Formats: sequence, C-alpha cells, structure tokens
Amino acid sequence: MRVAVLSDIHANLPALNAVLEALAPFDAVWQLGDVVGYGPQPDEVVTRLREVGATGVRGNHDAAAIGELSTDTFNDEARAAVEWTAERISPSTRAWLEALPDRTSEADFTLVHGSPRDPVWEYIASPSVARANLVHLDTRHCLVGHTHIPLVFRRDGERVETITPLDGEPFVFDGRSVILNPGSVGQPRDGDPRACGVLIDTASGEVAWHRVVYPVAEVQALMESVGLPQRLVERLAYGW
Ligand code: ZN
Repeated sequence: MRVAVLSDIHANLPALNAVLEALAPFDAVWQLGDVVGYGPQPDEVVTRLREVGATGVRGNHDAAAIGELSTDTFNDEARAAVEWTAERISPSTRAWLEALPDRTSEADFTLVHGSPRDPVWEYIASPSVARANLVHLDTRHCLVGHTHIPLVFRRDGERVETITPLDGEPFVFDGRSVILNPGSVGQPRDGDPRACGVLIDTASGEVAWHRVVYPVAEVQALMESVGLPQRLVERLAYGW
C-alpha cells in the first residue's frame, strides 16, 4: 500500500494540493494533526482531506480551534490565528476536527501529533526524547509531526540515531523501531519554504520525502486580505 503521510498542513490549501499531486498515486492519506491554525483556508483544507479519505489525529492547533485546549501557552500570533480560525470554521469542519482522536494506529504504525506519551503537546526533537518515547509504543513505527522538521529517530541497539532525510533520497524500514516526522505541508520550519510530505510503501518499507514548490505569494496575499498576523504571513517565504 502506498500511503501519503502529511502533517502540519495549517490551513494552507495550495501547499496541500501541491503535495498531494506530487505524492500521487497513493492508496491512503494519513495526517498527523495541525490541520488548521496559522493559514487562511481551514474549511477548504478539511474538505480536501475528506475528499481523499484522510484518516489521522488532532494537533494542538486543532484542539485549540474547537475550544478543547487553552491557548495560554500559545504565542500572540498563534493565539490570534486560533481565534480567527475558531470564529470562521463551518459546523461540518468543527465536527470533523472534534472527531479526530489524539492517537491512532494503522497496521504497524502509531500516529500522533506530538509524541506517544504526550500526543498533543510534546516535541520530539532530540534522541533522548525519542528514546524516552520508544517505550510508549506498541507498534514498530511511529509517525509524528508538531516540530515542522523532517527527521527520523531510529533505535540502534542501546542508541537512538538521528537521520535527516534529504529530498528524494530513499529511506527504508529495516525492522528497527523508528519515529519518523514527515515535516510540514503548510508551514515548513527547516529553512526551506517548499511544502513537505512523505510517501511510504508499506510493502517494501521504502520511504521518500518530497519537497514541493507551491504558490507562497498567493497564500500570503490571502492571509493579508483576511487580516492574519503579519509575522505569520512573512515566515512562509523563508521556511521558518
Ligand atoms: Zn503545527
């Protein structure tokens, strides 16, 4: 089965469409949360995910947008975008977000937004945090988002090694436990503004990251026209 793995779409419809086109053909779409927040098209993104039959989990921005998580720890721009989103999403978008679990599994994969032990909040950004989370897994593979950085942590005996995937360079599951972050579709933070997504072939174990150019200026213009914070508009151009 060919699976498109998407995370942190953040209401960025042109980025989502570009990544879906680049990863096609696929048999399933798994999304890792933060479907909404920051970006200008939350309803359109949820509609598109419904069209492709995406399954997955909620992120902290999704939970905040439906009033199930406080924004006290969000920075000012993130909070403003959550409030903008909460006021505008349709009842059907709200219902779709409310139905997303914190954690789910598909075959030999656990899907969470943050981490297995703290699904909505914890960032897995170091080998030590990855190692602490491996014991909370009952599947061999775990797919996470939240950091917006494409990265792999792989158990190697007592060690956990960190692998930075490169665009188009294959990575293969070899039986060792892996925590894999596909990067962000709608707001990359690794200095590369191109949208990011992953295709997994579950039969062969092959994984490929794809970086995809999308019309950033079009999204920025839409964000400005609806009054989203300027810093959020600007960061899309430099991938941070
Ligand atoms: Zn996010």
